[in-house]
Amino acid sequence: MRFLWAFSILSLVTLTSYSADTNTIKVLIIDGQNNHKWQETTPLMKKLLEDTHRFRVEVATSPPKGKPEEMAKFRPPLAQYDVVLSNYNGEPWSPELNNDLDSLLKDGKIGLVIVHAANNAFSHWNEYNRMIGMGWRSNKGGERLYLDDQGQPVKVAAGQGDGSGHRYVGPFTVTIRDPKHPITQGMPKEWLHVRDELYDNMRGPIENVTLLATAYSRGTKAHEPMIWTVRYGKGRVFHTPMGHDANAMRCWGFAATLARGTEWAATGTVTLPLPENFPTADKPSPIPVETK
Ligand code: ZN
Repeated sequence: MRFLWAFSILSLVTLTSYSADTNTIKVLIIDGQNNHKWQETTPLMKKLLEDTHRFRVEVATSPPKGKPEEMAKFRPPLAQYDVVLSNYNGEPWSPELNNDLDSLLKDGKIGLVIVHAANNAFSHWNEYNRMIGMGWRSNKGGERLYLDDQGQPVKVAAGQGDGSGHRYVGPFTVTIRDPKHPITQGMPKEWLHVRDELYDNMRGPIENVTLLATAYSRGTKAHEPMIWTVRYGKGRVFHTPMGHDANAMRCWGFAATLARGTEWAATGTVTLPLPENFPTADKPSPIPVETK
């Protein structure tokens, strides 16, 4: 059970101050269709979150592809949760479910968390594109944002340059660009992430986006957005394109980023400390695979 260890020990201090009913953040993970192994990553994200003792996580699994009648009835009760975490990349949802997410988020009733391929979904849903800020799109799918070597933001117009890709795959350095934001506060300026797809050329309307971290891609020779938030009406969105598979998620940097981002999306604040074994600029910190 070494897997649990770092978060569990650190959480002991705060554990007593949380009453299970009033202060536990209720998370709904939506999955069911994805070109990634959601059957592996959903249970892992649930565990990474619940091991902090800050969250209670439930899962809503959509019907599989090609079941339009069942899909039309897929409408998990989003209003019963504090935050929705999308691990979904598949067929469109019903207009009712789209509207639930849009209106609840806009009114600040729920938060939204977007991980990796969830940002590939729903390219024709305009509100979704605004919620996520940027996603995996062709170069016509909106503007691109990157930072130059001086750390200055550069925008590329829609239709110019490349569409989204992962032109580098491997371990990479995450560079914190906003050290004062509750999600990234206290993180080392640079930390080494384990092997993952480094998404590049994310495209979108990029409205109300706060860029918290980037990663330099050897594929694009640019500093690509890696952690950001979006203000959507009164709602908060936390977005990271990290997390291609379970191995990429077994990183204390990813785990802490996910937990803090989810807490922030739900509440607007972060109480979770960084794990002691958070990665450094030179040393990655993989989470061992749990052995039974
Ligand atoms: Zn991927």
